[in-house]
Amino acid sequence: MSANGYYGPYGGMFIPEILFPAFDELKATFADIQQDQIFWQDYQGYLATFSGRPTPLTYAERLTAYFGGPRVYMKREDLNHSGAHKLNNALGQAMLAKRMNKTRIIAETGAGQHGVATALVAAKFGLNATVYMGSEDVERQYANVFWMKRFGAEVVPVETGSRTLKDAINAALRDWAASFETTHYVLGTASGPHPFPALVTFFQAIIGNETREQILRLEGKLPKRVYACVGGGSNALGIFKAFMPDEDVELVGVEAGGEGPMVGKHAARIAYGQGKIGIAQGYKSLFLQDEDGQMVETYSLAAGLDYTGVSPLLAHLSERKRVRFEAATNEEVVNALQLVMTKEGIVPALESTHAFAGAFREMKQCSEGDSIIINISGRGDKDIFNIAEGVRDEEWKAFIQRKHTQYQQSRSGDSGKA
Ligand SMILES: *Cc1c(COP(=O)(O)O)cnc(C)c1O
Repeated sequence: MSANGYYGPYGGMFIPEILFPAFDELKATFADIQQDQIFWQDYQGYLATFSGRPTPLTYAERLTAYFGGPRVYMKREDLNHSGAHKLNNALGQAMLAKRMNKTRIIAETGAGQHGVATALVAAKFGLNATVYMGSEDVERQYANVFWMKRFGAEVVPVETGSRTLKDAINAALRDWAASFETTHYVLGTASGPHPFPALVTFFQAIIGNETREQILRLEGKLPKRVYACVGGGSNALGIFKAFMPDEDVELVGVEAGGEGPMVGKHAARIAYGQGKIGIAQGYKSLFLQDEDGQMVETYSLAAGLDYTGVSPLLAHLSERKRVRFEAATNEEVVNALQLVMTKEGIVPALESTHAFAGAFREMKQCSEGDSIIINISGRGDKDIFNIAEGVRDEEWKAFIQRKHTQYQQSRSGDSGKA
């Protein structure tokens, strides 16, 4: 990384001048904690007692037998408190906020997972929290909105633009420009303006640090490949970072192939070769955009992967051929999920199941003496509604429809409260 936060041609910091002081303070504090062993020990301590870290590396015995190839291991980020890797970053940034003497944190959220993680660390550290969420997403992910409010956060539906994640990011940045003296912006993934890609990767690197130690203990040697799904890129960079210097370990990022490589039907910025260099939301990276540079619609069954941009660090690592990119379609993901559930008795999130689908497709390329690791970025309990859509289970769909109607009714009853 260059001093200005560039990874090759990607990255940087494209923000309004009014935010310069906020970013200067954040960069200085980040530089400071990177030198501070005590900060990292405190971070690990909180994660141990609050989130249940270290998370296990589980041997997938029956999947291994089923494919007859390499030994398959799963890194269990699904066992974190609140059910995903998101808490690693939210907790680290809440500690940063405290160190900068801020009393309030704000966040953007798409599917709501990062909003929930931010809301609960705010409760834990006694900070006020505001979460910006596109009103379209508020509607689609109401269960998470309900959770955020119960943790005491204010949830602000954003009515501008397409009323989804990118509009929530813009709204959060606008808030920050007016409030940074008391407020820290907890960005949820390894993209956005410098120093966020480096900062979020720094906290999420705990995943790979643990994994590398665990696999060496279990196997006595490094794995052949490590697979992770890629939305903004934080869980992938988190598990990849510790293996980066090990040139023989192949790192594979799996994007959302949605309904296939047609424009507008997926969120595979790199694997389908359709992402073009551009600047949006404060950073330069590969974005899915039309000829005029307007962002195009993305689509995936997995809400957490449904994003037009990607971490500038991953765009760079792809170009340098250190990380290989693949895409898994919705159909492959639904099939992979069924296999994981029936062979291993666990429920990965639809996002994480992309990593399984990518790995299953190329299982024959590794030999029996090798091992591979799949990162389970989160648990799938939140996804039953979408899974029902994916499997086209009529009975289930009817049930979900009734539930959805009930949600909407409870929502109109709930507004104004909390
Ligand atoms: C948010 C989310 C993702 C995608 O975000 P990354 O920053 O790419 O990791 C993946 N899996 C789960 C479970 C998520 O909640």
